[in-house]
Amino acid sequence: MARRFDCRRVKLHHSYTISELSALIGAHKHTIGRWIAAGLKTTDAKRPLLIHGADFRAFMKAREPMKQRCQPGEFYCLGCRAPKRPALDMADYRPRTALRGLLSGICPACGRMIYRATTLAKLDQMRGGLDVAFQTAEQRLDDSASALLNADFNEVR
Ligand SMILES: [Zn+2]
Repeated sequence: MARRFDCRRVKLHHSYTISELSALIGAHKHTIGRWIAAGLKTTDAKRPLLIHGADFRAFMKAREPMKQRCQPGEFYCLGCRAPKRPALDMADYRPRTALRGLLSGICPACGRMIYRATTLAKLDQMRGGLDVAFQTAEQRLDDSASALLNADFNEVR
């Protein structure tokens, strides 16, 4: 699964060597090599290989995981790679700040914890009929915060 590289830094009308591209978006050269092997277009026959910005953007866009937008009441499951409604329509809300918090539930398909960050202001429109239990701030904030981080970083490579 692709890490989120900063592809917006790649200009559409500019060509890059692998080294330049690597430095620009923070991807290892080997990673770019794998993309080329996987079909990223390069300028042909010339050395060094150049990658056109527009080709690169198109390639990365095509690779983006199908992150369907979660509907209200759905959280994105990294295991299933799909939005899922938590099992039993139950979710916990844990505040992280006064205004923001993290909804968590259990994916009914794979049993993983699934999360969705939200704000109190958006909670009503986001809960989609879920039975949301509010945790108090004292309850193990760290757990949910680190779980969110893990959810974000586990997918690297
Ligand atoms: Zn799942």
